Amino acid sequence: MVDVHIVGGGPAGCFAGISACLEGKSVLLSEEHKSIGEPEACSGLISKSGLDSLLPYINYKEVVLNTILSAKITCEGEEFIITPKEEIALLISRCGLDSLAAERFVQEGGKIELGKRVTRKFASKNIIGADGPASAVADYFGFPRIKSYVACMQGNFKYSCQDPHQTEVFLSSKDFPGFFGWVIPINEDEAKIGLGVALPSHPIFYYRRFLSKLGVKQKALHEFSAVIPLSVRSKTAMRAGGYNVLLAGDSAGQVKATTGGGVFFGAQCGLLAGKYHSSPESYEKSWRASFGLDLALHHSFRSFLNLWDGAPPPFLVSAAKGLLFEDLLSENGKMDRWSAMLSPSLPLAYASIAARRFMGSGT
Ligand SMILES: Cc1cc2nc3c(=O)[nH]c(=O)nc-3n(C[C@H](O)[C@H](O)[C@H](O)COP(=O)(O)OP(=O)(O)OC[C@H]3O[C@@H](n4cnc5c(N)ncnc54)[C@H](O)[C@@H]3O)c2cc1C
Repeated sequence: MVDVHIVGGGPAGCFAGISACLEGKSVLLSEEHKSIGEPEACSGLISKSGLDSLLPYINYKEVVLNTILSAKITCEGEEFIITPKEEIALLISRCGLDSLAAERFVQEGGKIELGKRVTRKFASKNIIGADGPASAVADYFGFPRIKSYVACMQGNFKYSCQDPHQTEVFLSSKDFPGFFGWVIPINEDEAKIGLGVALPSHPIFYYRRFLSKLGVKQKALHEFSAVIPLSVRSKTAMRAGGYNVLLAGDSAGQVKATTGGGVFFGAQCGLLAGKYHSSPESYEKSWRASFGLDLALHHSFRSFLNLWDGAPPPFLVSAAKGLLFEDLLSENGKMDRWSAMLSPSLPLAYASIAARRFMGSGT
């Protein structure tokens, strides 16, 4: 028996392992695949601030593939270009990121068993279920269900983006019902192209149509389909049958419902799960206090968009354009921590943007 048994070797599991080891505990991490990070099933676009928050544990700079400086959002014929003053996001190799975290875990004394799927026999009374969106740990212990998922497909293609540092987002209830499509440049000649649709729609039909609209005819260099949870479980930790069971990452639904991004929240909640491995109550309280409001804000905005199947009607989109949302987001937008945008200074920032526009200066 070990002090902590972690099921799943993604970011949530590896960072949970690092923090449990830093608490001086013996930790076993079981991963069903034969290597950490593979097969890769993620775009790997993560906020710079989110990655910086992991610097005390890993040097993510080793696995950066591209820098993203702006985002173009196309919605019902309107284009919004969000151009923050500093680099907002980085495209990283997800396999590389997971491997760095696993290496740090092992350096701290953690043990990894590969090729081991765990569904019921656990090596500790303290269990962290970091086993992704279809969590066997959550099912075994009877956690409340995740209420909504999107089904995604993504491929890496030879593709020339107009701007190799701009990511493109497409909202349309007809083409991406319940979610969105994306083109993320890897470099001048290659991009990750993908989409998500709310279940029970099946993504393959929409994916083929999207590729055809973009003029992509060749086969993908790497392609996968996967689901993303869009809601947090109402309970993510419990004591049951003498076990302390904590869920972290996708297994808990700790994902931004706006974009499906879960690496930052999963890694951060993983760190908390490792710290509070024997106290379900403390874990539940601490992650909700740190990130609950942010995830709730993302969820509310997703619910708002999904009143129209993922894309608001043209009059609302034009209103958002007229109300200078583009400028507001460029200057004050945050990718992960939306609660930081609720600052009392926001109306002032907005007034300043409006005044500058009125005076005819775009800067
Ligand atoms: C198409 C797509 C694009 C995405 N793009 C982004 C993005 O750009 N940025 C971002 O932040 N997020 C993105 N995400 C979301 C992100 O991939 C997840 O939120 C993140 O991987 C969650 O980490 P995790 O550790 O909780 O789960 P996972 O990364 O899913 O890791 C779970 C691990 O557990 C293992 N496992 C599962 N069951 C068992 C078992 N019973 N026993 C042992 N091992 C088990 C799995 O093999 C896996 O390695 C994307 C997701 C998809 C589907």
